Amino acid sequence: MNILVINCGSSSIRAAVIQSRSGKTLGTLRVERLCDGVSGSNLKIEIPGNEVVELACPSDEHEGALSFAIKQLMEKLGDSVKIAGVGHRVVHGGRKFDRPVVIDAEVEQAIEDIIPLAPLHNPANLAGIRAAKELFGDLKHIAVFDTAFHRTLPRRARQYAIDPQLAEKHQIERFGFHGVSHQYVARKAADFFKTDERELRVITCHLGNGCSLAAVEYGRSIETSMGMTPLEGLVMGTRSGDIDPGALIYLAQQEGFDINRVDELLNRESGLAGLSGIGNDMRDIEKGAADGDERCRLAIQVFAHRVRKYIGAYAAVMGGVDAIVFTGGIGENSALMRSRIGQRLEFLGARMDLDKNREAKVGPDNRVESISADPSRCQLLVVATNEEHGIAEQAAQVLAGHQKPTAAVDRTIPIAVSARHVHLTQETVEALFGEGYELTPRNPLSQPGQFACEELVTLVGPKNSIERVRILGPTRSANQVEISRTDEFALGVDAPVRGSGDIENSPGITLRTDHGEVTLEKGLICALRHIHMTPEDATNFGVKDGDMVEIAVTGGERDLIFGDVLIRVSPKYKLEMHIDTDEGNAAHLSRDAQGALLSTEATGIIRSRRTRFDTAAE
Ligand code: ADP
Repeated sequence: MNILVINCGSSSIRAAVIQSRSGKTLGTLRVERLCDGVSGSNLKIEIPGNEVVELACPSDEHEGALSFAIKQLMEKLGDSVKIAGVGHRVVHGGRKFDRPVVIDAEVEQAIEDIIPLAPLHNPANLAGIRAAKELFGDLKHIAVFDTAFHRTLPRRARQYAIDPQLAEKHQIERFGFHGVSHQYVARKAADFFKTDERELRVITCHLGNGCSLAAVEYGRSIETSMGMTPLEGLVMGTRSGDIDPGALIYLAQQEGFDINRVDELLNRESGLAGLSGIGNDMRDIEKGAADGDERCRLAIQVFAHRVRKYIGAYAAVMGGVDAIVFTGGIGENSALMRSRIGQRLEFLGARMDLDKNREAKVGPDNRVESISADPSRCQLLVVATNEEHGIAEQAAQVLAGHQKPTAAVDRTIPIAVSARHVHLTQETVEALFGEGYELTPRNPLSQPGQFACEELVTLVGPKNSIERVRILGPTRSANQVEISRTDEFALGVDAPVRGSGDIENSPGITLRTDHGEVTLEKGLICALRHIHMTPEDATNFGVKDGDMVEIAVTGGERDLIFGDVLIRVSPKYKLEMHIDTDEGNAAHLSRDAQGALLSTEATGIIRSRRTRFDTAAE
C-alpha cells in the first residue's frame, strides 16, 4: 500500500509517498528554511523520472507550508496514486510509546505532554500531524516514534546513577533515538543473512549528522549511545557526545558559562565542527586531513576511536556480536571512516576486507553490502538506511492490524513458583489411600487439565521427613516427586536436576500416609526450571521446544537472571515459567511455599537462547 510519510522537523519538512512493501518512492518533497524569519521558505518536489520542481512556499510556518507542499505533491503525482494512510515521524514517545500507534485525541495529547522532553521536535511533529489531518481527515494517521525501539532497554541500561527519585520526577533516563533507522538496518542485516532477526546479535552504527550506536540483541535494542537527549554518546556533526560533566562545572566556574552557553557549546559548536574548525561535513574534513590539516586529522581520530570504543562495549554487553552494521551518511559513504573504526576488531572475529570496503556502494537499488573478509566470524555490513521506508512499513503494519510484537512490555512471561509436590500412578494412589481410591481435586492449576488434590503425603528421607506434600492430579503413568535443593538437604537425599518425565536413573524415596507406605524405586528429581508455551508463543519468542534460554526476572524484590531455562511447547500449555521455591526465594518472589503452584507478580523476559539442534523439529 502507498503511505504518505511526513517528517516535520524544527526548520524543515520532508515528506514522501512510499510503497510500503517494496520501499519504492513515488515522490518526495522538501521544504527548507522554515521559521528562520529572514528568507521565505522554498519547496522542492521530486517525482522519480521527472525534473525536480522548485517553488516558493507562500508560508514559512509549519502548518501552512505543509498543506501547500502536500497539495502540490499530490497534484504532481496525479489521481492514480492513492494513499492508504499517513505515517508521521515523532521524535519523542517518552515512556508511553513502545510501538507505532494510530493517532487519536489521546495520542495527540500524549505527544503534547512529552514536549518538555523534546522542545524543538515534538511541537513541529504535532504541527505536521494537525496539518495532515486537515488534509486527509478520512485516513488513519500513525505516529512512528524514534524512541520506541529502545523501550526494551533493561533498567540497568536506562538508569543514570543519580537519585532515583529525582530521575523519576523528571524522567531523566536513557531514551535513545534513531530507533527507526536502527530497527530498519538490523532487519536488513537479518534479511541479508537469510535469517530471522531473533537469531542475531547486531551492533548498528548510525553515523550521519547525528550519530548513535545500538546493541540489538535478538531483535531487541538493549543498549544505545544517545541518552535522555540526543547529546550523549558519539562525536557528531556539531554535538560533543560524551564529555565529563565535571568539565562543564569547571567551565562554569572558570569562564562563567551559564546553562544556555553550555547548551550552545555542546549542541552547536562541538563535535566534528568544533574539533576540525572547518564545519561538520565529513567530506571536507577528510579532504582537510589528506591535505595535512592537524585539526581535521584529530577530528577523524577522535570520531573513529569513540565508535570503536562503543563497539567493544556493546559486544561485551551482549556477550558477543554476529554482525556490525554501518549506516547513515558517513557510515554508508566513508570507506576511510569504516576502515579506521574496523581496525583492531579482529578479537571479536570481525575482519574487514579492505578492497570490498573501498568499493562498497549502497543505495536505493542495493541496500546491503558485505565488507568482511572470508572467513569472518562477525560480519561487517554497509546498509543504506531508509527511515521513510521504515516509517511506511511500520505504518502499514499498524493499518493491516498485524503489527509485529516489539518484544517489549507485553512480551513478558508470567512466573509461578512451584512448591514441592508429587505426581502418582493410580497404583501408588491405591497403595497409599486404599483400593479403588480416587484423588479429590482441590483447585485447578494454570496448565489446563491439571489440578492440586486434597490429598497430602509425607516424604521420608534417610535424615528427616517432610510432611504435608501436595499431590497433583490427574494420575500419570509414572511416579514423580519434585523437590527443591533445600528439601534435598533436609531429607538427606541427592536428586538430579531433570525435566519433567525424565526420571531414568533417578533415586527413589519413601511416601507415607496414615493408610500406607510405598517406597518408589525412582522418580525423585529437582525440576529443571522451564517455561510452558503454545506453538504461537514459541513463534513470537523465536524459540523451539527443547531450547534453553536465559530469563531476566523483574517485578520481585530482587531482579535476577536465570540461565538454563527449558522451553516446553504444546498447544495444551498456557504461557508460564515455573521455578521452584529456592529459585523463587532467590528472587524474593514466593511468600507462601504451601500452595502447589503460586502465581507471582513477577515476570520474565528472554535475554538469550541456545537452540537444541537435535530436536526433531529441526
Ligand atoms: P542526517 O543525520 O542529517 O540525515 P546524513 O545521514 O545525511 O545526515 O549524514 C551526513 C554526513 O554524512 C555528513 O557529515 C556528510 O559529510 C557525510 N557524508 C556524506 N557522503 C559522504 C562521503 N562520500 N564521504 C564522507 N562523508 C560523507
